[in-house]
Amino acid sequence: MDCPRDNVEMTELSEGEQKLLFRCAECGGLWLDVADLNRLLLHAGLPTLEAMGGRANPEEDAGDCPVDAVMLLAVESQHNRNPLIYETCESCGGIWLESDDFAKEAETAKELREGIIEFFREFAEHGSKKIHAASPRK
Ligand SMILES: [Zn+2]
Ligand SMILES: [Zn+2]
Repeated sequence: MDCPRDNVEMTELSEGEQKLLFRCAECGGLWLDVADLNRLLLHAGLPTLEAMGGRANPEEDAGDCPVDAVMLLAVESQHNRNPLIYETCESCGGIWLESDDFAKEAETAKELREGIIEFFREFAEHGSKKIHAASPRK
């Protein structure tokens, strides 16, 4: 599967038996399945992606889905300044994240998973006033 940004083959990362995500070695971007993402979110005590809110920004040039070449749709968090952005494929439900924003130093699947959870924890905090995601104690 190729990166939607620079068309290089992405590396598949797994954690234990579980396949987790694809990462582009070139730009650091991450691709994962919405079902896999929702599983991560639920395990972290967060709402699923659909329940997080956010607003679509069709103006953003987001590139094409690596699975089915449908144009990706950018979704922004409700932050007033510097909204967090992820991109999604409305056809297959895949999720694209620019990991430069939150997981630049991450190498392993575990570190990336934690980075993804932090990203969406912050996303959710601004997504809906009703949702108060509890932070697990470290
Ligand atoms: Zn890339
Ligand atoms: Zn797709």
